[in-house]
Amino acid sequence: MIRHPPTIVCYICGREYGTKSIAIHEPQCLKKWHNENNLLPKELRRPEPKKPEVRTITAKGFYDLDALNEAAWTSAQSTLVPCAVCGRTFLPDRLIVHQRSCKPKVAKEQLEVHQGDDFGDSTSSFTSVSQQM
Ligand SMILES: [Zn+2]
Ligand SMILES: [Zn+2]
Repeated sequence: MIRHPPTIVCYICGREYGTKSIAIHEPQCLKKWHNENNLLPKELRRPEPKKPEVRTITAKGFYDLDALNEAAWTSAQSTLVPCAVCGRTFLPDRLIVHQRSCKPKVAKEQLEVHQGDDFGDSTSSFTSVSQQM
C-alpha cells in the first residue's frame, strides 16, 4: 500500500502544499496577495481571505484534512473576481489581462449607432460655424 504524504490546500491561492511547506508558504502567499490587491483598481479589491477554522477531528484523533482542505478551497475561490462581461472568475491580476481581450458582443452595434449620431452633429456644427463667420 502506497501512502501519499498529506497535502494542505492554501486558503489564499487554493494550491496544495505539503504539511511542512504550507507553514512557509502561507505568510508569503498572504503578503503576495496583499501586494496584488493593493495594485488593483478600487472596485476589484477583495477583503482579506480568512483562514478557515475547521475543528473536525476524526475518530483517530487527527484533524479531518478533507474538511479542512474543502474549507480552504472555498476560501481561495472567494478571492477570485468575476469578469463583468462574461462572468468567468479569475485571479485579480489575471482578470486585468483577460479584460483587455474580453469585449462585450454589443460593442459593434453601439459603435454604429454613435457613428450615425456623429454624422448628424457634424452637420449642425458646420452650420453654426458658418453662421459665426
Ligand atoms: Zn497560497
Ligand atoms: Zn470576460
